[in-house]
Amino acid sequence: MTPTDAFTSKQPISERSDLSQPADYLKRYYGYDLFRPMQEDIIKSITSGRDTVVLMPTGGGKSVCFQIPALMLPGITVVVSPLIALMKDQVGALHMNGIPAAFYNSTQSGREQRIIEDDCISGKLKLLYVSPEKLLTEAFFTFLKHVTVSLFAIDEAHCISSWGHDFRPEYTQLHVLKKQFPAVPTIALTATADKLTRHDIATRLGMNDPAIFISSFNRQNLSLQVLPGQNRIQQIIKLLQQKPDTSGIIYCLSRKSTESLAAKLQEKGFNAAFYHAKMDPADRSRTQEAFLRDDVKIMCATIAFGMGIDKSNVRWVIHYNMPKNIEGFYQEIGRAGRDGAAAQTVLFYSFADVATYKEMLAENNPANLGLQLAKLERMQQYADAHTCRRQILLSYFSEELPEPCGNCDVCRDPRVTFDGTVLAQKALSAIVRTGERVPMNLLIDILRGSRSQAVLQGGYDQIKTYGAGRDLRFEDWRNYLHQLINVGVIEVGYDQHYALRRGILADQVLKGNRKIDLVRPDDAPKQVVEKTRTKPDATRDDLFEQLRVLRKQLADDQNVPPYVIFTDTTLEDMARQRPTTPDALRNVSGVGERKLQLFGRKFLEVIARYVRETSGRGTVVRTIVNETPKRSTQQQTLDLYNTGMTIAEIAAERQLTTGSIASHLVQVAKSGYNLDLETLISSFVSPAERADIERAIQAVGIQEGRLKAIFDHLEGRYDYGKLTLVAGAFDR
Ligand code: ADP
Ligand code: ZN
Repeated sequence: MTPTDAFTSKQPISERSDLSQPADYLKRYYGYDLFRPMQEDIIKSITSGRDTVVLMPTGGGKSVCFQIPALMLPGITVVVSPLIALMKDQVGALHMNGIPAAFYNSTQSGREQRIIEDDCISGKLKLLYVSPEKLLTEAFFTFLKHVTVSLFAIDEAHCISSWGHDFRPEYTQLHVLKKQFPAVPTIALTATADKLTRHDIATRLGMNDPAIFISSFNRQNLSLQVLPGQNRIQQIIKLLQQKPDTSGIIYCLSRKSTESLAAKLQEKGFNAAFYHAKMDPADRSRTQEAFLRDDVKIMCATIAFGMGIDKSNVRWVIHYNMPKNIEGFYQEIGRAGRDGAAAQTVLFYSFADVATYKEMLAENNPANLGLQLAKLERMQQYADAHTCRRQILLSYFSEELPEPCGNCDVCRDPRVTFDGTVLAQKALSAIVRTGERVPMNLLIDILRGSRSQAVLQGGYDQIKTYGAGRDLRFEDWRNYLHQLINVGVIEVGYDQHYALRRGILADQVLKGNRKIDLVRPDDAPKQVVEKTRTKPDATRDDLFEQLRVLRKQLADDQNVPPYVIFTDTTLEDMARQRPTTPDALRNVSGVGERKLQLFGRKFLEVIARYVRETSGRGTVVRTIVNETPKRSTQQQTLDLYNTGMTIAEIAAERQLTTGSIASHLVQVAKSGYNLDLETLISSFVSPAERADIERAIQAVGIQEGRLKAIFDHLEGRYDYGKLTLVAGAFDR
C-alpha cells in the first residue's frame, strides 16, 4: 500500500486484511498491539460460547472484552446498559473505530427505530445498545427473535444486586434472557469489587457454569497522596499551577463549597465550574458536556458528578474533604487516568472532617451505625498511614500487593518512626487520672505543666502526670495525640464534649504489652509548596501541546469529546515517536485503521512541521527532555525491558537489585499495562524452577510481603528476581 492509500481507501476496514485472532482485531480496530492481562482469555471464553463474568476496575479495559467478540461472532451483540445518556457517546466512540453499532431508545422516532431494526436483521450492525426497560418489553423480544443474537453483554452488572450501591430493579428481570435465549452466551461486566455483589451477579442472571475473571484492582498509574487539611484553597491553587491545561475534578462535601471554590478559582484565572445535584438539569448537563469537551478544565463537584462519565483524560482528582468510606474514595479517584497515562490523586485530611462525620452519624443514628463507623475508620487509616497507601487500599478489597507501590507519598518519602510507647503511656495515664473528662487542649496543658485557669480550677496540677510532657511543644503533643487516636490508643468522646478516653488498645499499652510506633511531626505530610522552577514534563512537550490543540479542533468539528479522537496516552506516544509516515503512525498505540483514515494526515502534518521547525534546535529540546525524566521508576524499568534487556541487565544498568526490577515488572503487569505476567515469568523462570519456588511459598507462606523466609528455605538457590516474579503470580 502506498502511503496515501491509507487515507483514501473507501473499502470497509473489515474486508481489507485477514482477521483471525483476537489480537488482529485489537490492532485493526483499536490500534493496540497487546492485550492487557485477562482480556484475551475473556474474549476466548466468550467466543467459545461460555457464560462469563468480568470484574475489572474502571479504566481496566472492559469494553474490548465484549466488543471484540461482537466483531468475531456471526450475528449481533445486544449490550444492556443502564445509562442511556452514555449510550450515545459509546456508540459514537465505536463509530470512530470503524465498528458498526447503534443504540435503541424511546427518544428515537418510529422511523429511526425501524432503520435500526432493519440493519440488525440484515446483519449490518455488530452491536446494539439498549436499556433494560426497553429490552424487557414484549415487542423487543419479538423483534429479537428475527435476529441472530450471538451475545448478550450486561454492562454495569452490579446494578442487579440489592447489596450494591446502585441497585436497579429492572436488572433483576434479566434472568428471562437465559430462558428465552438459552443458547446465547452472556457476559456480565462490572467494576464493583464488593464480594456479595460479585456472587449475586452470576446467580441472578441464571448463568450456566460461568467463567469468572477477577482482575487486579490496582491502578498503578494513579499516584496517591494525602495532604494536611490546613489552607486547602492555597494548596489547591499551588497544585493547579503545577498542572496547567489539564482536566480534573475537585470533590467537595457540600453544594455550597463547590460553588464558592469554583468562584475562588475563577478569580485566580482558572477555568473552573461547579456541579451538584440541586442545579437546574439543563445547567447540569451543559456543565458536564463542557467538561467532557475540555471547554471547562476544573470541575468542583459533589459526588453526584462522575457517575457514568467516560472521560478518559481526567488527569487528577482532588478530595477537598475525606470521603466516608474507601469504596466511595476508590470509585472517585478511579475517574482519573482511565487512559492509562499517569494521573494524580490528592486527599486533604483533617481530623475535623472525621469529627463532623461522626457527629452527623450520631445525629441520624442509622440502623447500620456500627458498620458506617467502621468504614469511616478504615478510611481514616488510609489517610493516616505511615506505610504504603496502595497496600492499604488494596487490602481493603482483599487484594495483596507484595511490595510497596513506589507511587504514593509514603513510598516516595518514607516516614521514620520511633518507639512512642512511653509517650502514649504518659498521655493515657493523664487521661485516666483526670477521669476521662478533659478534651485535647486541656490535656496537653496538663501534660505540659501549664498553670492555666482551667488546669488550676480543675485541680489538675495535683495529679501525678502533671507536667510529665514538659519537654514537648504544644503542637507536637497535638500531633502525637492525633496519631494515638487514629491507631485506637485514645478515643474521642463526641457525645461528651470531646473528652479524651481510653481507646481499644489503651489497656495493653498501659500494661506495657503493646509497643506503639509514632512518626515525628516533621516527618508527617507537609503542605504543598510553591515550586520555584517548573520542569518541563518529559511526555508533555511542545509537540504534545500542538497535537492537543489539533485534537480539540477535530473534536469540535466532529461534535465529540476530544478523548474520543485520541486518548492522552496516544498523543504522548505520538509526541515521543514523532512518526512522519502513515505506517509509522500505525505503530503509535491507539491508532487503528479507521482513525488513521480519518485523522492521520492532519496529525502527520503537525508532526512534520514541528520536526522541520525544530530540526536546528531539535537536539536542545531532546536534552531538556532527557534531563528531567518524570517517568516513574516502574516505567523506566519497563522501557528497558521493552528494549529486550534481561532482569539482571536492567538491575545492573539501574543499579538496583534484581528483586526490585522484578517487582517493578510485576507491578506494571498487574496494573494493566501491556505486559503479561505469565509471559514474563516463563521468560525468566523455568517450569521446574517455578514449581520448586511455589512449593516453598506453600511451605513457608509470604509474610507481610517479605520473601526472605522463602529465599532461606530454598537455601539461596534462586535470586530475589525469580522469587518476586513467582510470588507475584502466586494464588491469583
Ligand atoms: P472500562 O470500561 O473497564 O472502564 P475501557 O474499556 O473504557 O475501560 O478502557 C479504558 C481505556 O483503556 C480506553 O482508553 C481503552 O481504549 C484502553 N484500552 C483497552 N484495552 C487496551 C489495551 N489492550 N491496550 C491499550 N489500551 C487499552
Ligand atoms: Zn506506596
